[in-house]
Amino acid sequence: MPKKGEKPGKGTYICQECGAEQTLRKETETLQGCVCEGTEFREKGGRKPVGAKK
Ligand SMILES: [Zn+2]
Repeated sequence: MPKKGEKPGKGTYICQECGAEQTLRKETETLQGCVCEGTEFREKGGRKPVGAKK
């Protein structure tokens, strides 16, 4: 589970505490702490099966 200060790569991450989304656009970007001070996130979407439509 990605946490504040980690660099989990491109994607959208959702705060486990409040559900706020944070989008990282670069592999080198670091997850920031959420506005609610939550530090744990889960990845939104991400690894979709091949052939899945958006
Ligand atoms: Zn939050």
